Amino acid sequence: MALIVQKFGGSSVADRDHIFNVARIVADTYRDGNSVVVVVSAQGDTTDDLMEKAAEITHAPSLREMDMLLASGEQISIALLSMALGELGVKAISLTGWQAGFKTDRNYSKARIRRMETERIESELAKNQVVVVAGFQGLNSHEDVTTLGRGGSDTSAVAIACALKADLCQIYTDVEGVYTADPRIVRSAKKLDVISFDEMLELASLGAQVLNNRSVELAKKYGINLEVLSSLNPVPGTIVKEVVDMEGMLIKGVAKDVNVAVFSLIGVPDQPGVSFKVFSLLSQRKINVDIILQSVGRDNTKDLTFTVPLADKTLAESVLKDALPRLGAKDVKVRDDVAKVSVVGAGMQSYPGVASTMFEALYENNINIHMISTSEIKISVLIDKADADRAVNAIHDAFIN
Ligand code: ASP
Ligand code: MG
Repeated sequence: MALIVQKFGGSSVADRDHIFNVARIVADTYRDGNSVVVVVSAQGDTTDDLMEKAAEITHAPSLREMDMLLASGEQISIALLSMALGELGVKAISLTGWQAGFKTDRNYSKARIRRMETERIESELAKNQVVVVAGFQGLNSHEDVTTLGRGGSDTSAVAIACALKADLCQIYTDVEGVYTADPRIVRSAKKLDVISFDEMLELASLGAQVLNNRSVELAKKYGINLEVLSSLNPVPGTIVKEVVDMEGMLIKGVAKDVNVAVFSLIGVPDQPGVSFKVFSLLSQRKINVDIILQSVGRDNTKDLTFTVPLADKTLAESVLKDALPRLGAKDVKVRDDVAKVSVVGAGMQSYPGVASTMFEALYENNINIHMISTSEIKISVLIDKADADRAVNAIHDAFIN
């Protein structure tokens, strides 16, 4: 007998038939003799619909009230799923995030979990029933409802698995696992049997939608066995774990991120301290900078180019414009018609030729590279957004087929 946490996303509980499908998966796991905690998201597009409702009232909602509103979506799912389990003859109880003991910090709309008080879940499990927990929500130290940020239910599930020392955490979704590329862009994309936490983290942060990256970080930190699989098709999914057999495929995936903006500071003084000033200004406003490129100095000035998440574009633009005189820069330019395309694979630093294979694939397709960055497990290029899908296909062909 094992303790298993199963998480089902919004599309897996979208309507009555889907809810019963989920209930059958849970019932089978329970009847095999396992203790089961289920975490669910809001049904279908409920969270988006709730956001629209708020927008009908105000364009500047209080974040506290937004969290109160959005948390209601998951409560519908837990109650309905518990009822469906009852219909299948399985005893089940639903718990909100706060009943389940999620204690978060005070950051409304993107709260982080501070600790888990698991007594309630444990006492309900001891009554030999399935416990169905609302994902994405918790309670802060003011006893106010918080949410964990979009896609936060994955993190809820992994957090419960960590706190209860679960044997397995299964993330059920509407695809069969983690793919070598987005199957909607690359027809020959293949499902991976296994991927390492580090590779999964890169893919998740690069926009592969299948797992929320905070959940992967948490699973890595606590060594949780994680599996991504389909709620609609009972085939083995993808196992995410610490170390993956290095004899296997070197490149695990190709990802594209279109949520990027690129800034160029033109004509900054070619002297010490300039980069420090620019990037500390941005970090004070919690803006993450990714790829950085500095031109060679000429006539005592140089240009500084870097990318930030698209969501921070407006803020970064105003911070930099205000600071132009202080930085001694001539101008700031920003573009958002760009995409970051990356290859990911652990151990690539010890294989020569990964970069040249990638660049050759782009060259053969006449795709121009604006910026390049590398790490031990990935190579990213910044290109025009219009070229992104072609680039993903070309790179995928070069490495994976
Ligand atoms: N319902 C929330 C969202 O749509 C949380 C989740 O799905 O994980 O973002
Ligand atoms: Mg959702």
